[in-house]
Amino acid sequence: KAKDEGRYNYQFYTKDMTDLAYKRLTLENNLRSAIRDGEFKLYYQAQTDMRSNELVGVECLIRWHKEHEGIIPPDVFIGLAEETGLIVQIDRWVLQEALSQYQQWMKEGLKIGVISVNLSAVQLTQRDFIEFVEKAIKRYDIAPENLMFEVTETAIMRSPEQALDILNKLKELKFGLALDDFGTGLSSLSYLKKLPVDKIKIDRAFIKDIPEDKEDMNLTKTIIAMARNLNLDIIAEGVETQEQIEFLTNNGCYEAQGYYYHKPSSAKDMHPMLLEKSTDAARS
Ligand code: C2E
Ligand code: MG
Ligand code: MG
Ligand code: MG
Repeated sequence: KAKDEGRYNYQFYTKDMTDLAYKRLTLENNLRSAIRDGEFKLYYQAQTDMRSNELVGVECLIRWHKEHEGIIPPDVFIGLAEETGLIVQIDRWVLQEALSQYQQWMKEGLKIGVISVNLSAVQLTQRDFIEFVEKAIKRYDIAPENLMFEVTETAIMRSPEQALDILNKLKELKFGLALDDFGTGLSSLSYLKKLPVDKIKIDRAFIKDIPEDKEDMNLTKTIIAMARNLNLDIIAEGVETQEQIEFLTNNGCYEAQGYYYHKPSSAKDMHPMLLEKSTDAARS
């Protein structure tokens, strides 16, 4: 009986898997041509000091402008791009584009603070990545202190030794390092102490139900206290309401990235805000 079922399931799943494999292959081919045809765009999201409303930095977030299909968000294609290794090229394109835009902003006299880019797990295994980064900041004439890399605990844990090696080198070279999506991974406090990071980004999952979810509020308080104890900078992701801002600032977290302040947007759409913030008397 089990055998029959097994056979039936086998055929059933085979058809399903063929569809899936076909879809993946199509997506993979589309990703390749997207790189070639320049269909990726960078969006930027402001990071704000909640006390002064000053701009402290921007995070670069990739979008895929696909012909006839509109804008495709990263969650749809980053996973497959990682599995196929295409992410290495994509992340390097992102870095170049980010630095080129940063240089452009500097030439216009716009102060945007630190620029952050996300690094995938795969990038943390590429030995030549450091060399690539060093060349890039020279080409665009940017100080390492003005560039921050965001990595997740999960990405580091995929190949901890290689990742730590690369992260330590980046730290030595004075680049900023932030631990992204903090609180969703599994690493222990003692492990966090070993990571050469400057900053943690509290995941939106903890923020979104504040002030309704008391448990999330307690966890967030604990994360902030821990970060401060370890002398780490801290920023909250996904801040959308005034209540969240009050809660965070009352508990010692002063930076936020979220829709309350700014949604991710193109450099062009962000320009008026940058102009306004950069001419702020407080900043000059
Ligand atoms: P992430 O690095 O944690 O980026 C933050 C995500 O939260 C972004 O989603 C952003 O649009 C979203 N977000 C920010 N504030 C709010 C808010 O107030 N409400 C809500 N609902 N969402 C908010 P996005 O742009 O869709 O990116 C998703 C993830 O894709 C990123 O999470 C990052 O892990 C990955 N990603 C984006 N760009 C790149 C890239 O260039 N390279 C790599 N490797 N990964 C990237
Ligand atoms: Mg990020
Ligand atoms: Mg995040
Ligand atoms: Mg995320």
